[in-house]
Amino acid sequence: MQLHGWGRFPRKDANLLEPSSPESFLEIVSEKEIAGSLIARGAGRSYGDSALADTVLSSRFLDSFLEINSTNDTIRCGAGVSMDTLLKVVIPYGLFLPVLPGTKYVSVGGAIAADIHGKNHHQDGSFCDHVERFSLLLSSGKTIECSPTENKDAFCATCGGMGLTGVILEVTLKLEKVPSVTIQRKSIPAANLEECMDLIEENEESKHSVAWVDCLAKGEELGRSVLHLAEHSQIGTKEYRSRKGPSIPFSTPSFLINKFTTQLFNNSLYKLRKQTAKRRSVNYDAYFFPLDNIRNWNRLYGGKGFIQYQLVLPLETARSGLREIIDRVSESGKGSFISVLKKFGNKNENLLSFPIAGYTLTLDFKNEKKVFPLLKQLDEIVLANKGRLYLAKDSRMSEDVFKSSYLSWEKFLEIKTELDPECRFASLQSTRLGLT
Ligand SMILES: Cc1cc2nc3c(=O)[nH]c(=O)nc-3n(C[C@H](O)[C@H](O)[C@H](O)COP(=O)(O)OP(=O)(O)OC[C@H]3O[C@@H](n4cnc5c(N)ncnc54)[C@H](O)[C@@H]3O)c2cc1C
Repeated sequence: MQLHGWGRFPRKDANLLEPSSPESFLEIVSEKEIAGSLIARGAGRSYGDSALADTVLSSRFLDSFLEINSTNDTIRCGAGVSMDTLLKVVIPYGLFLPVLPGTKYVSVGGAIAADIHGKNHHQDGSFCDHVERFSLLLSSGKTIECSPTENKDAFCATCGGMGLTGVILEVTLKLEKVPSVTIQRKSIPAANLEECMDLIEENEESKHSVAWVDCLAKGEELGRSVLHLAEHSQIGTKEYRSRKGPSIPFSTPSFLINKFTTQLFNNSLYKLRKQTAKRRSVNYDAYFFPLDNIRNWNRLYGGKGFIQYQLVLPLETARSGLREIIDRVSESGKGSFISVLKKFGNKNENLLSFPIAGYTLTLDFKNEKKVFPLLKQLDEIVLANKGRLYLAKDSRMSEDVFKSSYLSWEKFLEIKTELDPECRFASLQSTRLGLT
């Protein structure tokens, strides 16, 4: 069947296998007859080609096992369990996931493989900083236990390792105690990028911090933004909630996304958010997962899909580098509907994890021929500023760009070779990046 990631680009004819127990995973992985590349897949929410291969091993059914320990605030679960299911179980105990992405539909295995970050990286680090241990099925058929103290090399290569070391089967996560799941949100408009970054710095004590940026504004208004700061409210509910909004039934014609509609959207959104800028109590679902309310929103970019480009620049170069990037995007007119700016705290020890201390910017572009030269120019600015691109969003980075920005790639490859000597685990992405 034809598979793709959330960006719907690229696509691949693949053999999709859906085993339902760790034992059936073991049978498949030990089955030497399977030809070509093999990779695990969670919920398919990575944007590019990291979960595409000749044979794709779905972990969707590793979801039957869940055990909460409310004495030491941990949960054990299968790697196929989604963030949404975890929230349903943990919220009534006054517990919460310490790191959440912008959608609740990712799997725990996918969250570890990409070592995902939330809006609180500057305070709480990334997802794997809260993973106590996991079991990893190797290509030999052997299962090993990994934690920051047991098989540490395998732990550091698997966290952020995009499925290339083996299949994560079962996970223990540390949870966070929260007073409620009602979120106190404060929104502050910023006239331009400089002002936005000043505001982010001034409000570092806020637990959650994310800015929506208008990437088409120019001149004095370049990078005008609205910064959203948030905390868990001391008074509020401990009720799980999941909104179910409308669904986009089919791919809309791609010509609907153009310079004018993007400009109109960014203008209207900026004005609307500026007007409503103040303190508000909102439900966690609305704050953390605003896009989940429109199901299949990825179809809005048309049949050819879209490319999400997420970069991080270190603190020393972030101000001038981001200005150059936003300037280039704004000049090109290929502005992004949704552009998001966040500050990262320090990096961890994981070899291919994306976050480094600095600023990360996320941009969406419709998949069209003319966008690729622009993205190449952005790559050059990112490299010149000692930054890197996020593997979970990537569908087109070159091997050179990857290897000059992920400096631990050789160490990663050394550990992958020990864990997977015949290189059975490979994806379209890992082949493109020269890792397999
Ligand atoms: C709307 C939206 C918002 C997002 N917001 C954020 C965000 O704020 N922060 C962030 O960091 N990311 C964000 N993401 C990206 C997303 O969190 C990651 O791509 C995540 O890896 C997706 O998990 P998944 O279960 O869908 O994995 P998939 O997309 O299916 O796979 C991703 C990678 O994980 C590997 N993998 C999956 N399961 C396993 C397993 N059991 N064992 C070994 N490897 C496995 C795959 O091989 C692949 O390399 C967002 C994505 C979307 C669609």
